This record gives sequence, structure tokens and C-alpha cells, in this order.
Amino acid sequence: MPERKKSKKIKSTPKATARPSAKKKVTIAGQEVQPGEFKEIIINIARLPSRTQIDTPIYVYRAPEDGPTLALTAGMHGDEINGMEIVRRILDGGYNRVKRGSVVCMPIINMYGFLNYSREVPDGKDINRSFPGSKTGSLAARVAYHMTHDIIPFIDYGVDFHTGGASRTNYPQVRCVMQDAVNAKLAEAFHAPFTIDSPFRPNSLRLTASKKGKHIIVYEGGESIRFDQQAIEVGVQGTLRLMKHLGMIDDAPIPKKENKIIWSSSWARASTAGLFQPLVSSGDLIQKDQLVGTLTDPFGGFKEDIHSPAMGYVVGLNNNPVVNAGDALLHIGIDNFCKIGNSGEE
Ligand SMILES: [Zn+2]
Repeated sequence: MPERKKSKKIKSTPKATARPSAKKKVTIAGQEVQPGEFKEIIINIARLPSRTQIDTPIYVYRAPEDGPTLALTAGMHGDEINGMEIVRRILDGGYNRVKRGSVVCMPIINMYGFLNYSREVPDGKDINRSFPGSKTGSLAARVAYHMTHDIIPFIDYGVDFHTGGASRTNYPQVRCVMQDAVNAKLAEAFHAPFTIDSPFRPNSLRLTASKKGKHIIVYEGGESIRFDQQAIEVGVQGTLRLMKHLGMIDDAPIPKKENKIIWSSSWARASTAGLFQPLVSSGDLIQKDQLVGTLTDPFGGFKEDIHSPAMGYVVGLNNNPVVNAGDALLHIGIDNFCKIGNSGEE
């Protein structure tokens, strides 16, 4: 049977009264969105071996007044549920219905991984290492291709929501290239507890968008396949602050914590295989050589203390007690204060 033609189905709510002053043309995935309109655009990427079509919905709201277009994307890694919930709460709370500009919400980029509780698509490839993608390539490359051609050209800014992977929790943090003044401003406006200076990863969404002059920051919070209410709440509130910074809304929540900029990081690793029990929590400020956890074997044969290699903040913490030699246990973020307080340590 010939493959069914890839199609874009469109559902839309009735348009609100458009203001004649709004002249900017807003199109997403080839579909024009009118002022005051909320539109659901369903992109068909491919189908399962069972012939089940895999559709990915995108929700676009265009305000009556002109302004920037902001993309909120999640589920690039299909098991990273917190980002999906952040985008869902933004839709559910009507926060996407901004005063000026357009908001493009894509709650699940990787529908395959979502169904499969997995980071990757079924062939084991990572979409965020497959950009800019290919129309006829692997599944990961095809999903990336749709992002590159249906979303990126039509937006100005974006937040791509992620969580820690492989049983590791990330304390709420924005990752961006701090040397890029626009991105640094976006991160500052978002005001997560931590902003981590992170170079572009090859073949990532961030890099592909940057090459097209679009500014996307990454938000990381919590752990895969687990809701983290703090990470979700920080993600929603940070997005509202970003919208205010971009002039899309007039009010946003005041941040409760300081935004610390992390310039470098260090890892505490398991010296040997065993069972890991942390003695610190995600987000804690720890000192160099501080006792941060223990490693034991299951038989009472040994117990080893783990000391921090640096002064810094616990920005990532392993939650899987069973570890092998060399496994990452703590990700320690180092800001300027920690550098001064811990001279010589990088
Ligand atoms: Zn991710």
C-alpha cells in the first residue's frame, strides 16, 4: 500500500475581532494565524509499523496586537515529563493568550519516546543530536526536520524544556550561551535559581536555531518520568517573566530566589562500584572536601566516604543508588563567589 501523503490537519476556534493595525504575517508550519486566533495545527511526522499515524499537535495563539513569536517546546526527550507539564499548565492557565505577539506551544516533540517512556525514538537515536534533520532520514532526523522547517523559521525566541536524564535530577536551571547578549538577557529575565553557561551542542535544536538568528534557551528541571512540582512551578513562572521581558504581557511573578550564574562545573564521581547514598540535597551550597555521600557494597564489606572535589552548588544529583565506578554522583555548579572562595579550583 502506498504511504499516505503527509498531511497537516487544522482545527481552529472562531477568530476574535482583528485589529486593522496588526500587519505582521504570522505563519506556523505553513499555516497563517490571524490576530486573536487560537489554532491547533497537527503535524503528521510518520507512522508506526502498525500503520498507526503519529501526530504531534502544536497550539498557536496570536494576540490582537503585534509582538514577538515565542515557542515553548517540550518532550524532545520523550521521558522528560516536567517540561510537558509546564507547557500544559501554560495552556491550561491561558498564559499563552498574551497581549502582544504569538505563543507557539508544542508539548511533546518526541511522541514516540513519550509512548515508550524513553529519551530516544525507537531506533535509539536522540532527536537533539539529529538537527537540522532530514526529510528522508531516520525517525529522529525526520522529527528534527519538522522542527527545523515547520517551527524555527517562524519564531523569534524559544524555551526548550528538559529534565535530568538517567535517574539524575537537575535543580531548576536555564542553560544558554552567556556570550550571546540576547540569550543572556533571556536567561536573566527567566530568572531560574541557576543559569548555566553552556556552549551549543553539535546538531542540537539550540544550535540550528542560532544559525537562523533565533534565540532559544534550554530549561532543565527535575528528573525524567517523575513530576517535580518545584521545577514545574519555576518553569511556568520563569516563562511568564520571559514573556514580560519580551513585552508580550505586563505582569509576571516576582522571583523568590536569586539567579546565580554558573560559569563552570565539576563532577563528584564514584571511585568504585556500589550503593550510593547522598548526604546533601539538590540545590545545596557545598564546600570543597565536604562529606557529600557514602558508597557501600550490599554485603557490609566496605563503606567509603565521598568528598566534594569543589566548592559550589549541587545543580545535578544522581538518584539511582546502584552505581558503577566512574558514574556521576553530583554535578557541582561553580559561580564567581565559589571561584573566589575556592581559588584554584575549576
Ligand atoms: Zn532532555
